[in-house]
Amino acid sequence: MSLANGRQYLAIPGPSVMPDRVLQAMHRPAPNIYTGALIDMTATIVADLKRVARTAHDVAIYIANGHGVWEAALCNTMSRGDRVLVLGTGRFAQGWGETARGLGIATDVIDFGYRSAVDLDRVAAALRADTGHRIKAVLAVQVDTASSVRNDIHGLRRVLDETGHPALLFSDNIACLAVDEFHMDDWGVDLMVTGSQKGLMVPPGLGFVFFGPKAAAARENADLVTPYWDWRPRAAPERYYQHFGGTAPTHHLFGLREALDMILQEEGLEAVWHRHAVLARAIWAAVEAWGAGTGIALNIADPGARSHAVTTVRLPGDAGTRLRGWLEDQAGITLGIPLGAPEDEAPGVFRIGHMGHVNTHMVLGVLGAIEAGMLALEVPHAPGGLEAAAKAIARG
Ligand SMILES: *Cc1c(COP(=O)(O)O)cnc(C)c1O
Repeated sequence: MSLANGRQYLAIPGPSVMPDRVLQAMHRPAPNIYTGALIDMTATIVADLKRVARTAHDVAIYIANGHGVWEAALCNTMSRGDRVLVLGTGRFAQGWGETARGLGIATDVIDFGYRSAVDLDRVAAALRADTGHRIKAVLAVQVDTASSVRNDIHGLRRVLDETGHPALLFSDNIACLAVDEFHMDDWGVDLMVTGSQKGLMVPPGLGFVFFGPKAAAARENADLVTPYWDWRPRAAPERYYQHFGGTAPTHHLFGLREALDMILQEEGLEAVWHRHAVLARAIWAAVEAWGAGTGIALNIADPGARSHAVTTVRLPGDAGTRLRGWLEDQAGITLGIPLGAPEDEAPGVFRIGHMGHVNTHMVLGVLGAIEAGMLALEVPHAPGGLEAAAKAIARG
């Protein structure tokens, strides 16, 4: 017997829920890729992507996932033997660093652990110690999807300026673009990567590299770039269909156009940020209420360093694994696995993805199902979690 039949909810931190409208926009015959509607539409997509990133500079679109644009970012700006500083806060900046090493780039890694944000003072010290300015770029994630930490990207710009270090500032916003507030140009970010399948609500398969003038200048000396990954033709919209190194990702583009309409034209980017903030606070309130004296806790203690896209939850023993199983079997909800958690803590950890096409009833549904699962599995928890969540939502 199962109570899971009904609409399934994939509440993992990417791929995220796809709006029916996005799916419907993709459900069409193959379009002409040389002239007509698709070409015209892609020009509007480029302009709107820049609005979402809050940048006036360039964007290159690739048929790739996040790992692809990690590589694109590096090979357009670096040469073999160059050095980057990697700011690890869970799993993903480290992953970007692994890509760098695979390309023959040297990496200095500062690991801030699984439970805290980048410490700007330690970054400043590392930059000051680099008196020869060998570090060419700082690789950071705004949101680490494993730990659910949100890093202070604007603060990293201040640190670079204060230390007078010329390194480029690279930000991975794959988890959190159109979720957590971000201002590429105002924050002095030189390069930002993201993908289609999280905040942008489109299936996996499109990757984006946004780059400003300093990163564009670095392209001139980069010897790692290869023809497919070169961003220069991709940043020239008049040569649209070659941008993809061949056939355009036709249906993804129709889906993305629909998603951008929803984000920019209908809801508005600031309202999208606000919705995610309120829903995240509801989740935090529930977990904090359950946690009173029970060992249940948010992975990131500092509210100012928590993402609005994903929440990593810690429970004693193997309760995380058991709850994930119960929600799958009895609620039709799939929670995120304990990616990046230290091995001995992993059975206690799960993650909730709440990025993109997510609203009040979905978040309260997940929290209600978690509470039912804790009751069914006799996981000790304090009462009041759902009420705390409802209050956070009522406050708005
Ligand atoms: C999902 C994610 C990635 C990896 O993206 P893929 O599309 O799976 O390659 C990288 N960084 C962050 C922060 C992510 O959330």
